[in-house]
Amino acid sequence: MKKILAFAMAAAMTLSLAACGGNGGSASSNKGGASASNPGSVSGSQGGSSADASTPAAFTTVEAGKLHMSTNAEFPPYEMLDDAGNPIGIDVEVAQAIANKLGLELVVDDMGFDAALLAVQNGQSDIAMAGITVSEDRLAKMDFTDSYATGVQVVIVKEGSDVTMDNLGDHMIGTQMGTTGYIYASDTPDNGGYGEDHVIGYETGAVAVQALVNGQVDAVIIDNLPAQSYVEANAAAGLTILEGTWVEEDYAIALQKGNTELMAAVNGALNELKADGTFQGIVDKYITAD
Ligand code: GLN
Repeated sequence: MKKILAFAMAAAMTLSLAACGGNGGSASSNKGGASASNPGSVSGSQGGSSADASTPAAFTTVEAGKLHMSTNAEFPPYEMLDDAGNPIGIDVEVAQAIANKLGLELVVDDMGFDAALLAVQNGQSDIAMAGITVSEDRLAKMDFTDSYATGVQVVIVKEGSDVTMDNLGDHMIGTQMGTTGYIYASDTPDNGGYGEDHVIGYETGAVAVQALVNGQVDAVIIDNLPAQSYVEANAAAGLTILEGTWVEEDYAIALQKGNTELMAAVNGALNELKADGTFQGIVDKYITAD
């Protein structure tokens, strides 16, 4: 069962930001929910002081001087908590680098995956980063930057299991609620899914994998990198990832619909980080070729 979704992203907004202060502090965590204080306060343009016709428009953030990122820090290596409970991971570091470029302090708001998407839709966070797949449904509710990664969803089973890519629909499948894995798998067979009766949505990917270990489901559909991390973490249970790709997708940063100034600033910063190698440096810290 494979669906290949290739959403052409809106043409990159090429508004590039002039040299920015880069004075953002280290990420601070705000566990438990999005902060919505000071909605609508203007954080200002980072356009530089010289008179320049291309000075970018001022952008607005939820809280002046801060960039609130809503996430679900249970998706290694994109976002997870370190031993001290601080959010780390590729998304967190990319957001920090974007905040630095925009002269903002990054605040990470850690919550459930669905809540992270809702927070940005409702204007309670400035950006959502959580290995978020660009999908048609989501494009109707939020805007996305250019893609920054390809997400590959895979199937985890117990070693020796008779589950295959082709007979998944005969089994019980665990997923994380609200993710594209859940949405596609629970869709009707006409639409390439297996039907709601065959899919259970769990609070987190880790809980879905625990259900597999406990024999409550026969397989888990989840993005490849967290899958590898969960298989390693449950080595004693003898889990394995099926050969092949269940679905291939694009990850991007979500913003509230219509916030074109902040979109231009974030997308511009993201593209600068890609161009100057910073982005790849962050990825290489977390993903090592083996
Ligand atoms: N990429 C998947 C999605 O967007 C899963 C993301 C996640 O679980 N953090 O639905």
